[in-house]
Amino acid sequence: MWCEAGGFFVDPPRPVERAVITHGHADHARAGHAAVLTTAATAAIMRARWGADAAGVIEPIAYGEMRCVGGVTVRLLPAGHILGSAQVVLEHAGTRVVISGDFKRRPDPTCAPFECLACDVFVTEATFGLPVFRHPSDAGEVGKLLESARLFPERAHLVGVYALGKCQRLIALLRAAGYDRPIFLHGALQALCNLYTRHGVALGALRPAAAGVRRELAGEIVLCPPSALADRWARAFPEPLTALASGWMRIRQRARQRGVELPLVISDHADWDELTQTLDDVGAPTVLVTHGREEALVHHARQRGFAADALSLAGYEDDADA
Ligand SMILES: [Zn+2]
Ligand SMILES: [Zn+2]
Repeated sequence: MWCEAGGFFVDPPRPVERAVITHGHADHARAGHAAVLTTAATAAIMRARWGADAAGVIEPIAYGEMRCVGGVTVRLLPAGHILGSAQVVLEHAGTRVVISGDFKRRPDPTCAPFECLACDVFVTEATFGLPVFRHPSDAGEVGKLLESARLFPERAHLVGVYALGKCQRLIALLRAAGYDRPIFLHGALQALCNLYTRHGVALGALRPAAAGVRRELAGEIVLCPPSALADRWARAFPEPLTALASGWMRIRQRARQRGVELPLVISDHADWDELTQTLDDVGAPTVLVTHGREEALVHHARQRGFAADALSLAGYEDDADA
């Protein structure tokens, strides 16, 4: 997204001179921009991924703090999506635009909650912008996993999670449900869990699912990247039971395609009800819908009396990390 008045892009898919980055997922944060404005946590995530190649300069900015970029006042507000995720608020010539970035409304102990701000134009994501997408309660989904681990103590429970956000949220949800056993991690998940811990998110006891211990993890919960579920890696565990935590697990066919025994519908994006509620809460007369299933939400917004349109952006596909 290009901001003409300020001379910068928001979440550009290619390297640019000046970028404002909403959050650390790879389809929003790319390496190689000359100058980046983002939250300190997102800056840390970008540096963890790319080191010195992340960007020329990264200027961290606290939620709510103002910066003048070109002629535009910019600030970031929490989006409730993952650690460090932000909405971008742009003010210029008496008009206020809010770009939601990826967001959700339900409570998440691993990040600051979404903040509603009244504005003239609200640019909303629509990853789950169809009425069929109504995410069940997180506690209920985590309860299914705990119940399965209790019923099948002879099986290692392998749960596919995206390394950034979903992994730490699932751990936090397990802790909130009272699960206090060590949680075992595939090596690819450790670094970002450490980063979350350094940013004050308590995750409890985490242990590497190292080669030497895999055989002994019957009845334990082991988190891994989704791709590892179908890997040789997974076969080293006793009677592995495969689960996958994603908003896409709402579509049974996707769970079947991936051979997932226990689909867990745990999403870091707003579902249909959260999307439509947010349009009402923000109350912007103009709504632009992007990044997902635009049509249904545009239609709904128009029926509710908003001026609404789809904003097609190049370079975005369905969020895999949903
Ligand atoms: Zn995201
Ligand atoms: Zn996204």
